Amino acid sequence: NNKYEVVIIGGGPIGIACALEAEKKGLSYVILEKGCLVNSLYHYPTNMTFFSTSEKLELDNIPFISNNPKPGKREALEYYRRIATINKVNIHLFEKVTSVETNPDQTHSVKTTSAEYLAENVIVATGFYDIPNYLGIPGEDLPKVSHYYNDPHYYATQKTVVVGASNSAVDAALEIYRKGGEVTMVVRKPEIGERVKYWVRPDIINRIEEGSIKVYFESSLKEIKNKEVIIETPEGEVTIENDFALLLTGYRPNFGFLQNMGIKLSDDGKKIPQYNEETMETNVPGIFLAGVICGGVETHKWFIENSRVHAKMIMEHIGSKTRV
Ligand code: FAD
Repeated sequence: NNKYEVVIIGGGPIGIACALEAEKKGLSYVILEKGCLVNSLYHYPTNMTFFSTSEKLELDNIPFISNNPKPGKREALEYYRRIATINKVNIHLFEKVTSVETNPDQTHSVKTTSAEYLAENVIVATGFYDIPNYLGIPGEDLPKVSHYYNDPHYYATQKTVVVGASNSAVDAALEIYRKGGEVTMVVRKPEIGERVKYWVRPDIINRIEEGSIKVYFESSLKEIKNKEVIIETPEGEVTIENDFALLLTGYRPNFGFLQNMGIKLSDDGKKIPQYNEETMETNVPGIFLAGVICGGVETHKWFIENSRVHAKMIMEHIGSKTRV
């Protein structure tokens, strides 16, 4: 039987939070996740440290015990996995949702890569980590280029250009430098991003000042070639030798996916999806948003701490609707 009161798209922390609340309300539900459990988190850099302290990453007041002030990726994987398994959360992994259509009777047909479901309510908790902000420059599709950074060892002794100046770029630059890579940063603005973790910012600024990490401020990458990159700087074009390019310029939600199910986006350039701030219901009745997807292109606005409440808000609303 593929009929559910709630279908949750995305098995990230917030999708799991929604499942726990659905269970409490006695609603039938399933999470559909295109990758592994907490897939985005699994793909974060190996050594990443959360900027949140562990209690702010907790779901449903289940204690997240960490010996560190800020937990790392491995601890977070452990925490969310234990929550999912101990609560026997109903989740289908490696099953991607391809479309959501609203039927004349206001139910929703949810199609995936392997099945079809009928849902009274749909929660979209798909995050923003699947689609990088592409630079759109020649050579961006070369095998030596990546929009995701994983581990520094790979870049040891190599000439690596890191584009971007926010947390992902700064973490990558520092780690690669410390594992013996030769790092050049290309930064569009005149300084390192203001939102870089406050305990990391002085580290990168000092490494730049002492010349350990090279940087071109107010510059952009123009072209990537097999053995070099071309940088547009205020002093003109510069060509430097290069082995690898990490383009860490952020990510964006899958807007097409939202629009295809009828969700409207703001036209002020921010592409904020339309939803009711009390119930999280979108302009399409019965389709809700939860988690970091809510911010449109402003992906820094929502994180686990301030979006985990969405789960309760949504389920309060669904639970109070008259059942058909
Ligand atoms: P996600 O965790 O992104 O989950 C969305 C899920 O949906 C993914 O598992 C994805 O595979 C799945 N999905 C997408 N499309 C489909 C589809 N069509 N069908 C099925 N499944 C689909 N936040 C904090 O609160 N604190 C931090 O310290 C912090 N550090 C971060 C560090 C990095 C490097 C990054 C990138 C983000 C960080 N964030 C942090 C933000 C973090 O991404 C979110 O807070 C958290 O992952 C949001 O949870 P979510 O469930 O909304 O989205």
